[in-house]
Amino acid sequence: MTLHNYKKKRDEEGFEDIYTNSISQTQLPKSELPAKASPPQVIRQLVYDELFMDGNARQNLATFCTTYIEDEVRELMDLSIDKNMIDKDEYPQTAEIEKRCVSILADLWHSPEKNDIIGCSTTGSSEAAMLGGLALKWRWRKRREAQGKSTDKPNFVCGPVQICWHKFARYFDVEIREVPLRSDELGVKPDQLQDYCDENTIGVVATLGSTYTGVYEPVQELAKALDVIQNETGWDIPIHVDAASGGFIAPFIQRNLQWDFRISRVKSINASGHKFGMAPLGVGWVIWRTVVDLPTELIFNVDYLGGQMPTFALNFSRPAGQIIAQYYKFLRLGREGYTAIQNECAITAQYLGEQLRKIDLLEILYDGHGGIPAVCYALKDESTSGFSLYDLSDRLRMHGWQIASYPLPSNRQNITVQRILIRHGVSRDMVSLLLRDLHQEVEHLKNNPVLNFSNKVSFHH
Ligand SMILES: *Cc1c(COP(=O)(O)O)cnc(C)c1O
Repeated sequence: MTLHNYKKKRDEEGFEDIYTNSISQTQLPKSELPAKASPPQVIRQLVYDELFMDGNARQNLATFCTTYIEDEVRELMDLSIDKNMIDKDEYPQTAEIEKRCVSILADLWHSPEKNDIIGCSTTGSSEAAMLGGLALKWRWRKRREAQGKSTDKPNFVCGPVQICWHKFARYFDVEIREVPLRSDELGVKPDQLQDYCDENTIGVVATLGSTYTGVYEPVQELAKALDVIQNETGWDIPIHVDAASGGFIAPFIQRNLQWDFRISRVKSINASGHKFGMAPLGVGWVIWRTVVDLPTELIFNVDYLGGQMPTFALNFSRPAGQIIAQYYKFLRLGREGYTAIQNECAITAQYLGEQLRKIDLLEILYDGHGGIPAVCYALKDESTSGFSLYDLSDRLRMHGWQIASYPLPSNRQNITVQRILIRHGVSRDMVSLLLRDLHQEVEHLKNNPVLNFSNKVSFHH
């Protein structure tokens, strides 16, 4: 058989080997659909091969998100791959499961409501923050209209917030007043609020688990400062807590910390199910204190089994699997499981903090005590170290570790930091291997200073 005939025959009979199939003999199409269809096994393998170029998610210590996934979760995700969360009518039990999750979180965060619980799932904390922010804006506008006052200059006040709040500000036309950091602080302090709040402040956003460093902002103290402001000015300014990470940490390992609905000024809370909630990617939650805290104008009703189902969301269609998996996690772990896992993560983070303290070039900004399971550090003196943390990130990447470097927010942008997240599946053993590589690379950079090293100013989440 000639080679030509062989190829012809092979093409006619289907593939023999993934890497001899005709599509395997070229680069994969990048900008146009291929003219022909290909066997699924071939394409699966070729796409899978391309994904090797991505880092290994388990070694991504920059992410807060779930990277350790139980087989049972994969099975439930697979079973629910065809379910659309919005079709409450077709999938009433999925809708029921979402409702149960909302109730469980309201209970966990000490909601005063036992029956009229109001909250919903979202694609993540970003969407949840938008919904929380919109409710604040609507409530403020109604109050102002009732007083016959102008409603054209809403603002909200916060410390260093995650990018989603900058998006909320821009998309929904609300001024963001991000209080600059004091030289020795990592979050907004209660006595700073009075200079930033006014009659147009729709709310204060407090972060439980700063994206920059992992520390908690003092929600209770911020609430007290707002009590004083109310006494002096009459402005009743609500708090929204962005508990993207802390909402699944504090209730288990910092149980006496007052940050949630136990504080009456806290009107809404968001959290990411796919971070320390341990659900797979694609689920967040937002809960309001009472029904009056979510203006009814924002709620749309969808038909639901002959009745009406209220929804509040930016999306329409949305996968249901993440919500089902979140419910699985709640039942599977219970308080006992969440407490044990978060505690173990916190202990590992604190151990890492202690070990990093021994590296004399580093200054530890957050050592894993009091906030989320994480550490954050900077170089003590960038001008004499001969390298920047960006260089260290690059060196660690050679071992597979992904550890982001970025500047602190204003007024401390001159400080570059690294942050390491310890989440479920980041074991003590992994951390000891990371420390081994970190020591080696710090030594390497000390002995081989980087010429003209520059501090890249970029920040991505
Ligand atoms: C991660 C994070 C967000 C955004 O959450 P997503 O679930 O990724 O959309 C918002 N706020 C804080 C404090 C976060 O850590």
